[in-house]
Amino acid sequence: MTIWVLGDQLALEYGPLAGADPTSDRVLMIEATDFARRYPYHSQKLTLVFAAMRHFRDRLRREGFEVEYRQTATFGDALEAHFDAHPGDRLACMEPPSHGAGDRLETLVESHGGTLERREHEGFLCSPAGFDAWAGPDADSFRHESFYRWMRRETGYLMDGNEPVGGEWNFDEDNRAFPRPEYAFSDPCRFEPDELTRATLEWVEATFETWGDSEPFEWPVTRTQALDARDHFIIERLPRFGPYQDAMVERSWAGEHALLSPALNLGLLHPRELLEPAVEAYKAGDAPLESVEGFLRQILGWREFVRHVYRRSMPELATANALEADRELPSLYWDGETKMHCLKTAVGRVQKRGYGHHIERLMLLSNFALLYGVEPQALNRWFHLAYVDAYHWVTTPNVIGMGVFASDALSTKPYASSANYVDRMSDYCADCAYDPDQTVGEQACPFNALYWDFLERNQERLGDNHRMGLVYYHLENKDEAEREAIRERVGTIREGIRQESL
Ligand code: FAD
Ligand code: SF4
Repeated sequence: MTIWVLGDQLALEYGPLAGADPTSDRVLMIEATDFARRYPYHSQKLTLVFAAMRHFRDRLRREGFEVEYRQTATFGDALEAHFDAHPGDRLACMEPPSHGAGDRLETLVESHGGTLERREHEGFLCSPAGFDAWAGPDADSFRHESFYRWMRRETGYLMDGNEPVGGEWNFDEDNRAFPRPEYAFSDPCRFEPDELTRATLEWVEATFETWGDSEPFEWPVTRTQALDARDHFIIERLPRFGPYQDAMVERSWAGEHALLSPALNLGLLHPRELLEPAVEAYKAGDAPLESVEGFLRQILGWREFVRHVYRRSMPELATANALEADRELPSLYWDGETKMHCLKTAVGRVQKRGYGHHIERLMLLSNFALLYGVEPQALNRWFHLAYVDAYHWVTTPNVIGMGVFASDALSTKPYASSANYVDRMSDYCADCAYDPDQTVGEQACPFNALYWDFLERNQERLGDNHRMGLVYYHLENKDEAEREAIRERVGTIREGIRQESL
């Protein structure tokens, strides 16, 4: 038996390798380069995946496994070489979470005369059967809050019998504070590239056409580093994670966020390995309930939820476009060239590290694309190539569903907002060329006019959404002259985007 370790299944603690025997089981890993040429991926994303795979190969060899590490253009090339060496071999891997990938791999293996045993992906907490039993077989839209409560009950995390610890399921209200200017954010955990990582980084730069800065490269690429990053987060940052989860500040690119999604999505950490110490920290009195619950909600709730919504909603989800948005992605997403201070900062951070925290992704980069009317697949592609933690299964529901409401599979209303939100949750507006309090005129923040224009353009689709009653009431209260002025301002904004002068 050969265990085929895919690039985002780098786990010895669970999955097929956990029960493997180094004396009889062989390991196959394939470093295929063609996929990395499809888009100008962020340099750090490619370095991260390839460096983590190479370190994992070395770890397996140290553990006594025979590892065939094949570096080829395509999976097909590598499998051809593998089956030439081992005709009719039996392969096993975990089911890849990205839609259709398992079928494609199986067909490819069979076309080379082998067999592929696809085992359930053990890197998540909720199985497909569990989710399907919870959701029912026919549902095509899903609600996070009820899934999350069900998961809390299923796992018993932060539960007191059948009720949530502290009497509340949700401390969202306590998680929307804005830090005072003197608040000092804790330092994120960083890792200097070792020799192998540095060699990989240089190879990536020399081999591929990439986007974004190759350095500073500070992401964990080994299991040991991932565990260190986890411990650092639980001790230093989790106690402060809750209140400032939604804040966007000039002086800190990471806030108190975990920065663990890259390691989690590669398989270097299992979600259980984050949740258990977090709950222990609460029990020991080292982290407050609102922080630990907030963190649980992200991992036990959102991460599991989007994975299954994606599984249930594909392939339609990837091409959904419920609001019929058809504009090109503005060039500012590539070069950060804009006078809009918030977008310039957010894009600059992605260029520098392939990372931005959740609110920057949702309320700046997606929100702007939503209001402007960017074609959802173009935005999804950008997120997919630009972020170090991006994989189709996780980016697609977040962008297409949550980000631009091109599908109602996972939320009931768009996350659309004007400058008011950014002004409240960030310190960007103070240093911006635009005024967050104005809607029309040259100095007016583009988010404002675009917001009202978005509502007006989509009135037929969204006007009877009961969660949007209040905003449509405000729109109704605008007289025709005001609406016309807004349309005019939107025209100038669109022209500014075309001229790259916004
Ligand atoms: P923290 O804020 O500290 O949260 C802890 C963990 O919770 C994260 O590590 C992550 O694993 C998990 N999590 C929280 N929310 C989500 C979510 N909505 N979906 C999945 N996991 C979640 N996450 C990705 O892992 N890959 C992506 O490509 C990705 N694209 C996104 C695109 C958009 C438009 C939006 C709105 C969100 C996206 N997210 C994505 C979710 C979330 O923004 C990131 O997981 C988070 O910012 C990662 O940083 P962190 O580890 O510091 O997270
Ligand atoms: Fe962003 Fe508008 Fe605030 Fe400027 S004024 S930082 S563009 S929200």
